[in-house]
Amino acid sequence: MVFVLDKRKRPLMPCSEKQARKLLKEGRAVVHRLVPFVIRLKDRVVEQSVLQSLRLKIDPGYEVTGISVVRVAEGKETVIFFAEIHHRTDITEKLLSRRQVRRSRRNRKTRYRAPRFSNRRRPEGWLPPGAEARVNQVLSVVRKLLRWLPITEIVVESARFDTQKLQNPEISGVEYQRGELFGYEVREYLLEKFGRKCAYCGKENVPLEIEHVVPKSRGGTDRVSNLTLACRECNRAKGNKLPQEWMEELKKSGRSVDRKRAENIPEVLSRLRKPLKGAAFMNATRYALVDRLKGFGLPVLTATSAQTKYNRTRFGLPKTHYYDAGCVGEMPDGLEIATEYVQVFRAVGRGTRRMCNPDKYGFPRGHREARKRYFGFSTGDLVRAVVPNGKYAGVWTGSVVVRASGFFDLKDVAGKRIAQGIHYRSIRLIQRGDGWRYDRFRREGGKAHSSSQ
Ligand SMILES: [Zn+2]
Repeated sequence: MVFVLDKRKRPLMPCSEKQARKLLKEGRAVVHRLVPFVIRLKDRVVEQSVLQSLRLKIDPGYEVTGISVVRVAEGKETVIFFAEIHHRTDITEKLLSRRQVRRSRRNRKTRYRAPRFSNRRRPEGWLPPGAEARVNQVLSVVRKLLRWLPITEIVVESARFDTQKLQNPEISGVEYQRGELFGYEVREYLLEKFGRKCAYCGKENVPLEIEHVVPKSRGGTDRVSNLTLACRECNRAKGNKLPQEWMEELKKSGRSVDRKRAENIPEVLSRLRKPLKGAAFMNATRYALVDRLKGFGLPVLTATSAQTKYNRTRFGLPKTHYYDAGCVGEMPDGLEIATEYVQVFRAVGRGTRRMCNPDKYGFPRGHREARKRYFGFSTGDLVRAVVPNGKYAGVWTGSVVVRASGFFDLKDVAGKRIAQGIHYRSIRLIQRGDGWRYDRFRREGGKAHSSSQ
């Protein structure tokens, strides 16, 4: 798929690679941008075209955020674009090391000053720097996509489960078998409530089953206030016993597991009727993201991860960030995937501000110049090098690392050095660096995935 702009650089519906080649060959289009590939039609404005509605779906994550763009038509969603944002995870670490360096410099070089606290209030909407960066990275990619695609609506996964659907589940006593999706919402709710572990033996990272505290055969209901999560062994061991009966039995046993179970039963019973507090399932980062996405002026809908999981199971898709993004929100029964590639946006930043290069012991071993551009190139620019001779003879494409000497290094998309000491005269600029490294890979699960129920 290729992004297409009209002659005034406004987005049109994307076209196929084949179509794009044809348009370029006929001279009807020009290359607007190389990576990702965007063409611009010279003879068309958006008013002359019919645009379909496109939905941008986002599944925010800690290391990777999944993105998908789907075309919405009667009873079917067609995925036309998959992407992953690979976030920077070094922010916290870098800020910590900067703080330590500054602290030690102040200790060495300045007089003592009494600490002041009155100027340390955090502004409203403050997020920890790592989270702030992540939100900004998602916004930056969304801003790019809005420039290249006529998106009409944004859907974000913003919570684990729907509080509206589960409002006071303990009290109002909704039955959990109210349709399949509702089961997923309840499961996520219980996971959060019981801390993602077996309520009886406390085992983590094992498959958990929904357990009726008062068994159904003994008159127990499907209400959320009668449900907990247990591992398979505990669920089996409890069988159709009432919690009190089981506790008596466990007390007689000498096994350490049984003692632990007996200890936990009163805790489980006391937790059953207590609903979760609101703050527990809406995390600040996702909330901030939803809030700031509204600034683009498009309708922003929110979805739950319970819903995503339900859709992914329904369409039988593997668990990846991009498929998850394709499954965000309420979906019709049909899903078609009309793209073979996943675009990667890797956040790499625009370099450091540090002017001094220390050695491994922290002693200064040279200073950088204030300038960042040498011989027309900056570190991070995407370039093509044709090296006539020497160790690296051949043609190379990658991002450049500049030096004042004019002999540059090249790195590949993963950040690995592929060539060294290449003279700037052998290098040609493809695209200026913008703090991102672009890459793409083939999606998992082969061709023409289409499924419905
Ligand atoms: Zn257990």
